[in-house]
Amino acid sequence: MPAVRRYAVFGHPIAHSLSPRLHALFAEQTGVALEYGAIDAAPDEFTSVVRAFFMHGGRGANVTLPHKAAAFALADVHTLTAQRLGVANVLTALPGGRIEAESNDGAGMLADMRGRFGFDPREHEVLLLGAGGAARASGFALLDAGARRLTIANRTPARAQALATALSEPERVNTAAWDALDRCAAFDLIINATSAGVQHAALALPRSLVQTRTFAYDLSYGPAARPFVEWAQAAGCATASDGLGMLVETAAASFERWHGVRPDVDAAFKAIRAGTRP
Ligand code: NDP
Repeated sequence: MPAVRRYAVFGHPIAHSLSPRLHALFAEQTGVALEYGAIDAAPDEFTSVVRAFFMHGGRGANVTLPHKAAAFALADVHTLTAQRLGVANVLTALPGGRIEAESNDGAGMLADMRGRFGFDPREHEVLLLGAGGAARASGFALLDAGARRLTIANRTPARAQALATALSEPERVNTAAWDALDRCAAFDLIINATSAGVQHAALALPRSLVQTRTFAYDLSYGPAARPFVEWAQAAGCATASDGLGMLVETAAASFERWHGVRPDVDAAFKAIRAGTRP
């Protein structure tokens, strides 16, 4: 009998992760036999724990906070997207014992916007709140997708400026002061890529950012997205969503990368949404 293929998600903490449930759902849908664990690795042991996992037969790993940069650093091969971002959320065993690093957060966000909401960022004015790792992945993805203009606002202005510089498209990217957002015109798409909601902190955003067709999208999901989603609804956005669909899309993309079969994303989303509402 062939050995069961081993996969895992690594993070710190990790108990809250929906990743094992998603991969179990995908495995059930597709008939793929696998074992998928959740491994809590502190930052100082992350690299050795991941290396040991792959040396002992691990075939693939998803990586979440705070290890995405360390995941990139330990890999032998990097996809073009991972190279551009300098972080990875998917590690895959390659022949010869090498490990490949990929980042699919940006692609997952776009797939969710397009697939679940029929929203294409092409030619749209976008406000990106935050300048951390997720904002960086979103920024590159949105420019690749043809956003007309990307305005970055971050609590720490130097990080907004650093992200704008890294995106290397001065004609399409600018920054706005975090405490003067009321001076901006309204946007077509507002992305909350801050971790404020996870820390139970509300953002003080002016209603003037919104017009009737504005799509508001929070990358965090479940209750962490509630303050932003409620603000967006009250401000009159056409659509407001959390990032649960993005999470499902990124999990599905790693599943497909590892097993060569596309799971039923909509069915998995419905199953997981039932227990995870903003
Ligand atoms: P980082 O720690 O890299 O960045 C956090 C960002 O949030 C920074 O810009 C920080 O600003 C800002 N921030 C934190 N607290 C506040 C606050 N109280 N008020 C205003 N701004 C604040 O985190 P990530 O970029 O990795 O993650 C951001 C969010 O995206 C998280 O909620 C995460 O769960 C979510 N995410 C969702 C994914 C999905 O699949 N749906 C995938 C990846 C991330 P400053 O620079 O000033 O500190």
